[in-house]
Amino acid sequence: MSIPESFGSPPIEIFDETPERAMVVFAHPDDAEIGAGGTVAKWARDGCEVSYVQCTSGSSGSNDPSVSSDDIVPIRAEEQRAAAQVVGVKRLIVLDHADGELEANRRFLGELVEALRTCRPDVALCHDPYRMTGFNHRDHRMAGFTIMDAIYPYARDHLHFPEHVRKGLKPHKTRHLLFWGSDSPNTVVDVSSTIDVQIEALSRHRSQIPGLRRGSDVESRMRERRRRNAAGMPFEYGELFRRISTRA
Ligand SMILES: [Zn+2]
Repeated sequence: MSIPESFGSPPIEIFDETPERAMVVFAHPDDAEIGAGGTVAKWARDGCEVSYVQCTSGSSGSNDPSVSSDDIVPIRAEEQRAAAQVVGVKRLIVLDHADGELEANRRFLGELVEALRTCRPDVALCHDPYRMTGFNHRDHRMAGFTIMDAIYPYARDHLHFPEHVRKGLKPHKTRHLLFWGSDSPNTVVDVSSTIDVQIEALSRHRSQIPGLRRGSDVESRMRERRRRNAAGMPFEYGELFRRISTRA
């Protein structure tokens, strides 16, 4: 990690390592590519094994009164599979929670602990549950709180969820947790070389972002936001995160 000379406070560090394995936990189809698509595409291209954990089916994700949950679920599932393929994700785990009903409870905690012990990421990425400067979907908060707990202490210590250990999974220590959508980011990833891949992946979520096409206003706004994220940095486009790291 290196710190550029010109930037204000709070200091934002450039995260320039490529982890061996990363795991992205997200509430709804499309959240992962919106929050961290450039980072995921870059790491996957550079040899990182990326796993996705999708927590809900996105069954409430439509503003069209003629569309039912039964209609939208298979569409979003297919969109997510296609988008994951574009960014180079190796494994897509889909949990069985209803959209809008995610709870930070024992069942969900156990699922994330098992996913961590299975995927064994160096870095986990998720929604920042502490965002207070705007409305944040409740499912996003539940996912953020629960992955934080799952990393420490539950996945790390063998006496938590010992049934995983009994079936052959080992306890796991995740080095970094990166929260996207944070009010107080402290880390940036240079995504200049993969912003095109990210936009391509986002365009697969046609039911959610119908206006996203090459040269569209939606695309310009996405680029502009990521350009602002990189202000003062020695690169053009960035993704910002709040990083929490375990002590060595
Ligand atoms: Zn969402």
